Amino acid sequence: MIAIKDNIAEVELQIAAACQHAHRKPDEVTLLAVSKTKPIEMLEQAYNAGQRNFGESYVQEAVEKITALQSKSDIFWHFIGPIQTNKTKLIASHFSWVHSIDRIKVAKRLNEHRSNQDTPLNICLQVNISGEETKSGVLPQDLPALLSVVETCDNLCLRGLMAIPEKNASQASFIEMQTLFATLKKQYPTMDTLSMGMSGDLQLAINAGSTLVRVGSAIFGSRN
Ligand SMILES: *Cc1c(COP(=O)(O)O)cnc(C)c1O
Repeated sequence: MIAIKDNIAEVELQIAAACQHAHRKPDEVTLLAVSKTKPIEMLEQAYNAGQRNFGESYVQEAVEKITALQSKSDIFWHFIGPIQTNKTKLIASHFSWVHSIDRIKVAKRLNEHRSNQDTPLNICLQVNISGEETKSGVLPQDLPALLSVVETCDNLCLRGLMAIPEKNASQASFIEMQTLFATLKKQYPTMDTLSMGMSGDLQLAINAGSTLVRVGSAIFGSRN
């Protein structure tokens, strides 16, 4: 059996070490446990170990888990996967965060479907920092157009940027994100979140100012 509690403790240690190396405080970095494809029992184990932020990528699967774990009302659910417009209603009604907005149409739809909730949806815009053709994410040069629409969306709270740098990306890609984030933050004061770093590149991300790392396999084991 995988000891999820031990894995979380290990990842927290890695985060603390990376923060120390980068001369940052460990509490500047939030751990998001990415539980996609993993069974509810594993999420419960993580919850019992104190984990409260969970990330999911597939809408149907996520809604089932969120419904099953409804009684644990202090969980924050983050949607981090690609978004189809026909899924925006389910996403807007079940999640507190969405990290993967990269199109104007998706932002508008999420805003419309969030109108009946008390709290705005926290959002990050996903940036295609490595310029990969097949990757989702908005290219940095297209960010201003997307931001100008997000600004008008009262039911969305712009919290920051998200990136998935390409496999084996150098520190430079992460630093590019850090720079972009710092620049935009001046213009958009609600931005406080730089969502980057996964099981394999935590350190590079934290070195470059990441405030939220999305960790799956290092906590729950590898996915099939
Ligand atoms: C699956 C996933 C992760 C977690 O990846 P690991 O390498 O398992 O830590 C992080 N971010 C996104 C967007 C993902 O889809």
